Amino acid sequence: MDRIVVVGAGQAGASLVARLRQKGFGAKITLIGEEPVPPYQRPPLSKAYLLGELSQERLFLRPESFYAEHDIDLRLGVPVSAIDRGARVVRLGDETLPYDHLALTTGSVPRRLPAAIGGDLDGVHVVRSIADVDGMAGEFMAGRHVVIVGGGYIGLEAAAVAAQKGLDVTVVELAPRILQRVAASETSDALRELHQAHGVRILEGTGLERLEGQGRVSAVRLADGGSLAADFVIVGIGILPDTRLAEAAGLVVENGIAVDEFGRSSDAHIWAAGDCASFLFRGQRMRLESVQNAIDQAEAVADNMLGAQAPYLPLPWFWSDQYDLKLQIAGLNTGYDRVVVRHAGARSHWYFAGNRLLAVDALNDPRAFMLAKRLLAEGRSPDATALADPATDLRSLLRP
Ligand code: ADP
Repeated sequence: MDRIVVVGAGQAGASLVARLRQKGFGAKITLIGEEPVPPYQRPPLSKAYLLGELSQERLFLRPESFYAEHDIDLRLGVPVSAIDRGARVVRLGDETLPYDHLALTTGSVPRRLPAAIGGDLDGVHVVRSIADVDGMAGEFMAGRHVVIVGGGYIGLEAAAVAAQKGLDVTVVELAPRILQRVAASETSDALRELHQAHGVRILEGTGLERLEGQGRVSAVRLADGGSLAADFVIVGIGILPDTRLAEAAGLVVENGIAVDEFGRSSDAHIWAAGDCASFLFRGQRMRLESVQNAIDQAEAVADNMLGAQAPYLPLPWFWSDQYDLKLQIAGLNTGYDRVVVRHAGARSHWYFAGNRLLAVDALNDPRAFMLAKRLLAEGRSPDATALADPATDLRSLLRP
């Protein structure tokens, strides 16, 4: 193999190239990113970086020198415009780069509000890149009114930052409750209370009619006829896998670039990992939007490119920081039919399907999180009654 080309210099792309070198791959590696900065961590963008507590360099996954030191040809600031699968080349500006194996780690793009309802007005922001956050930093002045559209983790994290900076914050969530897509009502309730205690207004089951303003947004008109003053708006209504290159190249795309359990796409020379990839797991196609998935799946793809033939088995976990709450999530709750609440000082919410443990939301409870990760990794389910009893020592649940 002469050359591996990786398109997309985010968490997955960076992890993939590092793993290739770590595993002794000695031929050419090119990592291409359209943003002008080296690969960086995105989670702090809606947290510490938005708060202004972290410098840009601290976001970088590795110092820029790492890539040259490991003979990784890092191309920044120029997007790949096309993949020619027949010729096995990618087009980059005026250049064509040949590949033997290609990995697509193109990530995702934030959903935006349509221009027809004011989504393109000045003062309307998304939280996805360093440029997005730098572009809204000047908006966060105490006393200003911000309307946050979408009560998922991104919207709520931005709300927490804005409230801590003394802004007047309203979250508008279309679904009947915040976090409905990703969490049980117990977790939504805890987060709603926390935000309300910090003075954040949370409007649930509330549709948005349009954003209003002359050039710049000044108000948000709601579907129920109400109106909210807005000095600026943050839109956190989810992300879409960035499958543009893959689609144009005719690869199979099903809610993400369709890959098999090894990370291989419908073209044997093209692989995908991270937010952009939908992979087969237990016979079902799924896509995971998390750092853990980006790293682990990218490393699995790197290994498989080098011939490992190891299926990717996700052990999902995720976290969110809001105010002084650290919410840690282990597992995937898809298909749960009940939630067991454990309230022993800290709180944790345990998702079950019948007697099988699926996932846990731990609220300022790192011990419950660590235990849950272990149980899930071992495919074990604790007894629900013992779990709910605050007198039960968590460690006793680990005994077979
Ligand atoms: P993110 O990663 O951006 O937080 P999620 O999909 O987890 O993504 O959360 C997005 C939230 O935005 C969901 O709770 C969803 O119901 C909500 N939402 C989607 N469209 C709208 C809309 N037009 N107005 C208000 N809320 C919306």
